Amino acid sequence: MQTWRIGDVTITKLVEFEMTGGTRFILPDATYDACRPIEWLKPHFMDDQGRLKMSIHALVVETPSRRIVVDTCLGNEKQGRSVPHWNNLQGPFLRDLAAAGFPRESIDTVLCTHLHVDHVGWNTMRTDGRWLPTFTKARYLMSRTEFDYWRDQRKDAEHMAVFADSVQPVFDAGLVDLVGNTHRVCDEVTLEPTLGHTPGHVSIRIASKGESALITGDFIHHPCQMTHPEWAAVVDYNQQQSTRTRHEVFSALAGTPTLMIGTHFAGATAGHVVRDGDAYRLAT
Ligand SMILES: [Zn+2]
Repeated sequence: MQTWRIGDVTITKLVEFEMTGGTRFILPDATYDACRPIEWLKPHFMDDQGRLKMSIHALVVETPSRRIVVDTCLGNEKQGRSVPHWNNLQGPFLRDLAAAGFPRESIDTVLCTHLHVDHVGWNTMRTDGRWLPTFTKARYLMSRTEFDYWRDQRKDAEHMAVFADSVQPVFDAGLVDLVGNTHRVCDEVTLEPTLGHTPGHVSIRIASKGESALITGDFIHHPCQMTHPEWAAVVDYNQQQSTRTRHEVFSALAGTPTLMIGTHFAGATAGHVVRDGDAYRLAT
């Protein structure tokens, strides 16, 4: 189990899914040939063949007053997902969460960095044939911009399914707080807009006792985008804006003691941003 300590805050990573290779459907520019020369990605983020490693995980953030889950992965038994093996999952995520000391009833806050399929899945679980909130004692915080965008869009069948089975039920149960994208969750945790991947995308800033961290969300999917900030994801709704966001965030973090914790980074998952020629790398 990987944990990080930021002042009085503890962050624990809970993995649902890890993969090596097969990531080009997200990052088409990241071919084996293009990635293999980026030596610093090995061994945590790439294998010797240039295949990228990625992870789908949740991060539990414990502050003196809150127990927060940041992003809720894919979930079990969901259907209508465009990636075939993301349908009808029967994974041990909730068991693992409880075994790590976080039974679902003990979570008081759920933060979704954005409302894509791999960030909202465990918002709900199937109970007696219905989708009901998993974290029954939690407030679910979502960016109002993000919520409105996905509620109103009628083009993408997968997103409509995701909204219907993983967002609408928690809203209907009265557990959602729609917030601005600079919302302060508690003394140590603040939302920070990092736009481009989605219209209301936020990263999570953690600060305590002079230490700080940033949970990325999906403004970056893989550390190779630090060497190539211009490598946008297929699923970035505005690729120019997401590229601008990557440049801005890396430049602001470079050389600082702020820990960057990747939402889809495998292996070490976290590190410090340092300048590397014209671009950046992650020092783990
Ligand atoms: Zn994602």
